[in-house]
Amino acid sequence: MAQKTYMKTYIIGNWKMHGVRTSARALASTVLDAAGRLASQKTEVILCPPATLLSLIADLTYNTPVRCGGQDCHAEAEGAYTGEISAAMLRDAGATYVIVGHSERRAGHSESSREVNRKAEAALAAGLRPVLCVGESLAERKAGRAMDTVRRQLRESMPRQGDTKRVIVAYEPVWAIGTGQVANASDIAEMHAHIATLLKSEFGFAETEVAVLYGGSVKPANAAEILRCPGVHGVLVGSASLNAEEFVAIINAAQS
Ligand code: PEP
Repeated sequence: MAQKTYMKTYIIGNWKMHGVRTSARALASTVLDAAGRLASQKTEVILCPPATLLSLIADLTYNTPVRCGGQDCHAEAEGAYTGEISAAMLRDAGATYVIVGHSERRAGHSESSREVNRKAEAALAAGLRPVLCVGESLAERKAGRAMDTVRRQLRESMPRQGDTKRVIVAYEPVWAIGTGQVANASDIAEMHAHIATLLKSEFGFAETEVAVLYGGSVKPANAAEILRCPGVHGVLVGSASLNAEEFVAIINAAQS
């Protein structure tokens, strides 16, 4: 179970570029059944579907314990940015969260930490809670630079304006995303302690003021152990969130 002193445990499903209305409806309704049976309100379940499905998922989850979020947003509120979606548009579609700085965007779309910072600030300004992803590459870990990378990313990406306590940080080692390779419990605990220290020294947050999640090949078989790691306040789940049974098992692991 995540750290007892923190109010909630966050279980976030990042569907990435998967799903159409039929499959999304089926997946969301299974998740809703499971979330409706949660013994306590201490677990927050959040679905982040592709933008095309956001309104549908927002409607399906309306007035339920499940929330929904976007997978990215533009830093500007509106303008001539073909193909982009603003934080306010996500909010309008029913989102209450948005992932920013996912490594697939940092790498695949050359997003800098400075840009991620602007997106996170735009999210807060629009009333969304940004889920700010940081994490080192395999080369950086092998070179002993994991801590430095995460320090730099946090320093440059964390919003400085708005209600910054509403940010959720997600530590996602890039080498663990979609690979089946999971960071071991002691590495996770070490990095989460590092992030807690940075959040205090650089931004003045008390230990449990900002939630810090782990992400990277979280599955039913490892979720309980990860959620028990000190300083872990939840998980960001990619591929296992597309399988209703697996995602429900991860939600249930947060209760054990
Ligand atoms: C992710 O994309 O944020 C992620 C953690 O993916 P996966 O669970 O598939 O590793």
